[in-house]
Amino acid sequence: WRRSLSSFGFSGQALHSCFFPRTSVCTRPFATSMKEKVVSVLYKGGAAGRENKRILGCVENELGLRSFVESKGAEFVVTSSKDYPNSTLDKHLPDATVVISQPFWPAYITAERVAKAPNLKLAITAGVGSDHVDLAAACEKNITVAEVTGSNVVSVAEHVVMMILSLVRNYLPSHEIATSGGWDIAECASRAYDLEDKHVGTVAVGRIGHRVLKRLVPFDVHLHYFDPFKRLSPEDEKALNVTYHATLESMLAVCDVITINAPLHPMTENLFDSAMIAKCKKGVYIVNTARGKIVNAQAMADAVAAGHVAGYAGDVWFPQPPPKDHPWRTMQWNGMTPHYSGTTLDAQARYAAGTKEILENYFDGKPQRQEYLIVDAGKIVSPAYTKGNTTTGAK
Ligand code: NAD
Repeated sequence: WRRSLSSFGFSGQALHSCFFPRTSVCTRPFATSMKEKVVSVLYKGGAAGRENKRILGCVENELGLRSFVESKGAEFVVTSSKDYPNSTLDKHLPDATVVISQPFWPAYITAERVAKAPNLKLAITAGVGSDHVDLAAACEKNITVAEVTGSNVVSVAEHVVMMILSLVRNYLPSHEIATSGGWDIAECASRAYDLEDKHVGTVAVGRIGHRVLKRLVPFDVHLHYFDPFKRLSPEDEKALNVTYHATLESMLAVCDVITINAPLHPMTENLFDSAMIAKCKKGVYIVNTARGKIVNAQAMADAVAAGHVAGYAGDVWFPQPPPKDHPWRTMQWNGMTPHYSGTTLDAQARYAAGTKEILENYFDGKPQRQEYLIVDAGKIVSPAYTKGNTTTGAK
């Protein structure tokens, strides 16, 4: 695993500090006379953000945090400008003590940026998934990394079920026929199937993967899962009537639909390359709401063009936003959306509240909830990242 981590850019010292923790656990590592500065990088809200105050995650609505942060005597900078190296984020990094970022509009907190932020103590992800932060660099500089674990897992699980149905039933192309004035029933039906009796498998059975399985039970499908680090209890397996697979290959060989719900780390980056896609059944549908880098973009586009993959949907890309010519924007039979599955209005209320809780604990010198911590006291502590080794993600 050391070799695998090195290939992801870990230095020996970074590795050491990740896995051999400093002895003290701290929330706000040391008292400082320096004014706290919280820099929050959020997506642009535009007209929708100005009109709808429930879109808390956008620049206009500032996660609802301004008066709270300022009541703590801290400066609060909110921006959507994140592109390296001349962004507003980069301008404020030298005296930032806290950075808040989001998976939907990720400010990639790279080792270079960490080096430019000598006062940074806390990096908060307003959402779930902290692979956009260089966790090794955070370990080395003793920066706490925290996220609002669980805040949007229902939102994503529902999105996955929607996308599975939409692909299998040929919904989007049929909708397009209706809205463009057509009435070609045969064309709509030529690629439309029932989900019932199909084999559906999840890569990972964490908070999202498990919820996807539960939501699929009433569709009378055959359920499968692969997760090298988690086995459901015999009671749960029985209740779901789900088949466990010891290898990914064994699951891919039998599934008509695959849903990817694993974190991005060295074991999962580029997991679905052309060789792995070739191990899927011909005509498979694949839904990926986990992270774009888990799937090789060109290999997937080629497999769809060749008819090996019947449809691909998801809302995660790399980078985000993706370039205009990203192959998933235009490939046939795609059901892609911008990264919004985890930012429904309900989810935004939850991750904004969780972000406030993390900040409050930090300002008050109280410990953070254990399940929110990704990096603490110089060590990666979240099972999502320690079990599959760890990630630099932010490359
Ligand atoms: P979780 O920590 O509850 O579960 C992760 C699961 O993945 C664990 O059971 C773990 O054992 C498993 N896993 C780790 N490595 C694996 C591998 N190589 N193969 C198969 N399984 C593996 O996380 P969660 O809340 O279910 O979220 C999962 C991921 O979904 C997040 O890390 C994030 O990247 C992504 N996510 C996306 C959105 C969105 O808006 N699209 C929102 C939330 C989370």
